[in-house]
Amino acid sequence: MLQEFSSELRKRDSVFSVVNINKIAEIESEITSQRNILFFENNHHIDDYNFEPYKDKNSINSIFIIATPSPIYILRMKSSKEDIDIKIPPIYGNRNQILEDIKNTTAKIFGKHGFSTFPVILPKKLLAVCSGMAQYGNNGLTYINGMGSYFRLTAFASDFRSDHYTWLKPSMMKTCQYCGKCIENCPTKALKRGNPWVNINRCITEFNERDGTFPDWIHSDWHNCLVGCIRCQEVCPYNSQKGQIKIIPIERSEVNDIINIKRFDDLSEHLKRILITLNMDRYYSKLKRNIGYLIKQ
Ligand code: SF4
Ligand code: SF4
Repeated sequence: MLQEFSSELRKRDSVFSVVNINKIAEIESEITSQRNILFFENNHHIDDYNFEPYKDKNSINSIFIIATPSPIYILRMKSSKEDIDIKIPPIYGNRNQILEDIKNTTAKIFGKHGFSTFPVILPKKLLAVCSGMAQYGNNGLTYINGMGSYFRLTAFASDFRSDHYTWLKPSMMKTCQYCGKCIENCPTKALKRGNPWVNINRCITEFNERDGTFPDWIHSDWHNCLVGCIRCQEVCPYNSQKGQIKIIPIERSEVNDIINIKRFDDLSEHLKRILITLNMDRYYSKLKRNIGYLIKQ
């Protein structure tokens, strides 16, 4: 079955790895140890994880992690002087399409072989690293050969039991030891040399994905994406960017509509389609505020 699953995923340029459910306690302990490090104070992502349901070994034997390429999307706005690019980092843009594809592929293959699958909320990057599929970068992201850090991880549990599981200690790419470009390019100093965890209390993404006003210490010219931040990824030598950027033209009037129209439902059908494709409808209440930092109104 694994071969069949693998060749189906390859059609989408995706790869996968499998973790033995017996390792869930080690994943929990790694995450708990990070929770206790000062760098990680108030880390709500870590607190979101609940490992207890996955310890029921009667119904769950394995965790599958899938990596699917996810490009940077650029909304390119024509202007009389020069085009203005509004960037959307990897992971956001083709989220819905990836989730739908994986769900369909999984249902088809696992169902056919009599196995069940269950959705999970687990630390996917750590699972990808420990299962040998990825390595950490110094920017807190994970890297896979041929994809760099421009991919989205999806995880699910199954009663499928593999004959062979890989398990490695979490490790960072060797190049990071003498590179440090992501650390230098992070505007908020959220990264620390030799540490693959981001200080989320300083990371722009943590602020511009949420409603509210930005803290005073975030400089207006540090903003660089419609949502999220691309600074520590775009300088990384492992992100060659060839074929990893997709450009979508957008009219100035449509950008004005994002700024001026309060309700997503009141936008034109064309603009709604663009934003839904990019998964930006989920963040609509933040876009007006964020876009104001990217273009001169
Ligand atoms: S920019 Fe350099 S230090 Fe940062 S993740 Fe990439 S290789 Fe590692
Ligand atoms: S996403 Fe931006 S703010 Fe966050 S660590 Fe990377 S460069 Fe720094």
